Amino acid sequence: NMAPLPATMKAIEIAQNGGIEVLEHKDVPVPTLADNQVLIRNEFAGVNFIDTYFRSGLYKAPQFPLRLGREAAGEVIAATGAAAAKFPVGSKAVYMEGNAYAEYTAVNASNVISIPDGVSTEVAAAGYLQGLTAWTFIREAANVQPGQWAFVHAAAGGCGSLLVQMLHAIGAKVIASASTDEKLALAKKLGADYTVKSTDDVAAEVKKITNGHGVDAIFDGIGKSTFDLDLEMIARKGNLISFGNASGAVEGVALLRLAPKNVRLMRPVVNNYLVEREELEQYTTELFDMIKNKGIVVSIHDVYPLADAGRAHTDIESRKTTGKLVLKL
Ligand code: NDP
Repeated sequence: NMAPLPATMKAIEIAQNGGIEVLEHKDVPVPTLADNQVLIRNEFAGVNFIDTYFRSGLYKAPQFPLRLGREAAGEVIAATGAAAAKFPVGSKAVYMEGNAYAEYTAVNASNVISIPDGVSTEVAAAGYLQGLTAWTFIREAANVQPGQWAFVHAAAGGCGSLLVQMLHAIGAKVIASASTDEKLALAKKLGADYTVKSTDDVAAEVKKITNGHGVDAIFDGIGKSTFDLDLEMIARKGNLISFGNASGAVEGVALLRLAPKNVRLMRPVVNNYLVEREELEQYTTELFDMIKNKGIVVSIHDVYPLADAGRAHTDIESRKTTGKLVLKL
C-alpha cells in the first residue's frame, strides 16, 4: 500500500567550506537503512546557526561531501530491526541528527521521537533543537531557580525566544537583550521583564535593573563579542552559560578571571544532555508538553524551499531574523 520509493532525491551538500556559494542543491541516492534505523521523509528541516559553522569551516566537517542539517520532522517511511515496532510506517517523527537538508534521511532509532498528537511536523521541526537547547541549559547547565535574575542575549532569535519564554514560565526574572527595538518588543511580548538594547551600556543597565546584584544566570549564544560583558554583569556565584559563536568563538579564557565572583562557566552542547534514551524522552516529553499545554510559542520567521537554503543562511547570519527558520521539503 506504500508508494514505491524514488531512487534519487534532492539534498543540500558542500564539497568544501565557504560562503553560500558552496551549497549544492544536488540529486543524490535515497539512503538505504542499516539495522535499527528509520527512514524519514522529511517535511520540514530546521535551520540552525550551527549549519553556517559547518558551511564556513568554523566547525570541521567530518568528511566531504557533507550533507548539512541537524534536525527535521516528517513521516516514517520504513524502519528496520527493533525500530519497526516502535515507529510505525505513516507515523510522524522528529529527530536531531545529521543529513537533514534532504528529502529523506536514514536516522538511528535512538535519535527518533514520535511527534505527539496536536503538534504539527512544522512546529516539531521548528521547536526541537532550539527548544531542547533552551530547556536543558535552563535545567541542567544553569539550574535556574524561581526568583533568580536571568539574562538572555539575542533574545529574539531561535534559541533566545524560547529561553525567554521558558525562563519566564519557571519564575525567573528575565532581562532580554537584542540589537533592535523590534526584537526587544518581541522579547517583551514573550515574557521578558526588562529589555536592554545590545548597543547600549548593557552592564550599566543591568546594574541598575538588578539594584547592583548582577545576573545569576547568563545565556550567551553570541560568544566572542559578549564574553567580557558577561563577566562584568554576572552576579557573585553566577552561572555563565556560553553556548555559541554567532560573533566568533570565545578563546583563551584565563581561569583567574572567574575568581573575583566565584563564577561557574560552562560551554555546553545540547546533544550531550540527551545521550541516554531516558534523557531524550524526558526532555522531549517536557518540551512538547510546554508547546502543547503551557503556551510556549515556536515562532517561525520564514519557511524556505530546500533550494533556497543559501538565502536562509544569509538571513540568519545577517541578524535580520527573529524566531526560527525552516526549510520545507
Ligand atoms: P539566532 O536565531 O539566535 O540567530 C543569531 C543571533 O545572534 C542574531 O539574530 C543576532 O541577534 C545575534 N548576533 C550577535 N552578533 C552576531 C553576529 N556577529 N553575527 C550574527 N548574529 C549575531 O540563532 P540560533 O538560535 O540558531 O543560535 C543561537 C546561538 O546558539 C548560536 O551561536 C548557536 O550556535 C548556538 N547554539 C548552541 C547550541 C549548543 O548546543 N551549544 C545549540 C543551539 C544553538 P541580535 O541582532 O539581537 O544580536
